[in-house]
Amino acid sequence: MKQYRNFIDGRFVESEKRFAGINPANGVRFADIHEATRGMVDEAVEAGHRAVQAWGKTSVADRAAMLCSIADEIDRRADDFLDAEVSDTGKPVSLASKLDIPRGAANFRIFADILKTAPLETYRTDLPGGAQAINYAVRKPLGVIGIISPWNLPLLLLSWKIAPALACGNAVVAKPSEETPGTATLLAEVMHKVGLPDGVFNLVHGFGPNSAGEFITRHPRINAITFTGESKTGTAIMHAAAEGVKPVSFELGGKNAAIVFADCDFEKTVDGMARAVFLNSGQVCLCSERIFVERPIYDRFVGALAERARQIKLGDPTDEGTGMGPVISAGHRDKVLTYYALARQEGAQFIVGGGTPTFGNQLDNGFWVEPTLIAGLPDSARCVREEIFGPIGHVTPFDSEAEVVQRANATPYGLAATIWTSNVNRAHRVAQSMNVGVAWVNAWFLRDLRTPFGGSGLSGVGREGGMHSLNFYSELTNVCIHVDAA
Ligand code: NAD
Repeated sequence: MKQYRNFIDGRFVESEKRFAGINPANGVRFADIHEATRGMVDEAVEAGHRAVQAWGKTSVADRAAMLCSIADEIDRRADDFLDAEVSDTGKPVSLASKLDIPRGAANFRIFADILKTAPLETYRTDLPGGAQAINYAVRKPLGVIGIISPWNLPLLLLSWKIAPALACGNAVVAKPSEETPGTATLLAEVMHKVGLPDGVFNLVHGFGPNSAGEFITRHPRINAITFTGESKTGTAIMHAAAEGVKPVSFELGGKNAAIVFADCDFEKTVDGMARAVFLNSGQVCLCSERIFVERPIYDRFVGALAERARQIKLGDPTDEGTGMGPVISAGHRDKVLTYYALARQEGAQFIVGGGTPTFGNQLDNGFWVEPTLIAGLPDSARCVREEIFGPIGHVTPFDSEAEVVQRANATPYGLAATIWTSNVNRAHRVAQSMNVGVAWVNAWFLRDLRTPFGGSGLSGVGREGGMHSLNFYSELTNVCIHVDAA
């Protein structure tokens, strides 16, 4: 049985309270996860405060070099990271090896670069009589950052927050999802190996309420909280953060629209939309669960997308040829299947999928659902309004640009949209009118890590990425100097 321990002040710390790590592909228990106590979280926070005294004063060059060493060590241990990510999540090895693990390393490298090139903000004000005020803003660490992440892209999302937090000279107390603590624990080994000073990176395992998650968010000595997860968890964390008026950055849920115009490049769009609906078993916050297709190509497009869904190879995630794995847990499978049942009650037509696959081997003990496309529901149906977070999309026809913009925006979420068209004017017009954090045109999940990332409405608070991350993870002090006239 693998042991996933906490990492506090440079040491691996065991706990008497343990819970099971289950492989979602076959339901097999393969790890013991050591749940951090409140006292351990306190120790982690205090270790962070001690460490930040020196770490916060290291040079930009030293911190950037440390981030690059972390990235190099992730690359060196890529096979271990891959094994841990696939066992924890059940995602296909072909996906984790291309997306999750390289992005984990890339997150550290990009913030090393951004840190080195971050501009110093300066302003000169001319005052009466020839005097001047010279202003410049210095960046300082916030202190100890609480980081809480979800299970769908475990290494990618945790490192997305750890890297800029460390770049800005902070210490962190990170809590990965209870479902997927493996790569986070390996990351602690990496930090140890590359010589990150003790206490700068602390890792605690556990759940949300009455466990490590809440111990972090309610901790009076945590200086800021960054969280990725469900919108309703974001509400709970915001309440907790309000007590200490702590800055928060939230990347939350979505109910994202895809808009397919009749003038799109048909084959490219089918390819793109097959990824946008089914990648990672639909468990990416950016996945499209609402697919609007312009009426002239509706039947042909839906037929082609359904055919793609039928071709997806479900199976052992460690097999290179597998295209889709299970969903994360028995609880999440039941939630997705409840939505499949609800879709039937609401009167949906199932174009493909809607059930659970069988394999005739140990995979039958895993948490599987079929890739599914449904149609025929009104925009007011719960399955069209609520985030399902599974391999399911609802397709619906539209007749005009104005109509589809209005329908796509009619949601309390505001994370992402993807628009497929060959009309460049329409592409810009529609993309700019989407109430979302990111609007792709003829693309999906294409990221330049310097760009702002986040959502509006129920999808989040603030933006991370590039300079936006540096701004969140640092305190700015503006220095204003009066310069007398000659
Ligand atoms: P979740 O909110 O259930 O859990 C996320 C993390 O929060 C876990 O580590 C959990 O232990 C912790 N947590 C739960 N309750 C808490 C509490 N009261 N106090 C402190 N911590 C608490 O989310 P999930 O099910 O792990 O992830 C799926 C969700 O994440 C989906 O809604 C998805 O859209 C969203 N997500 C968003 C983005 C984005 O960038 N916007 C990216 C990935 C996932």
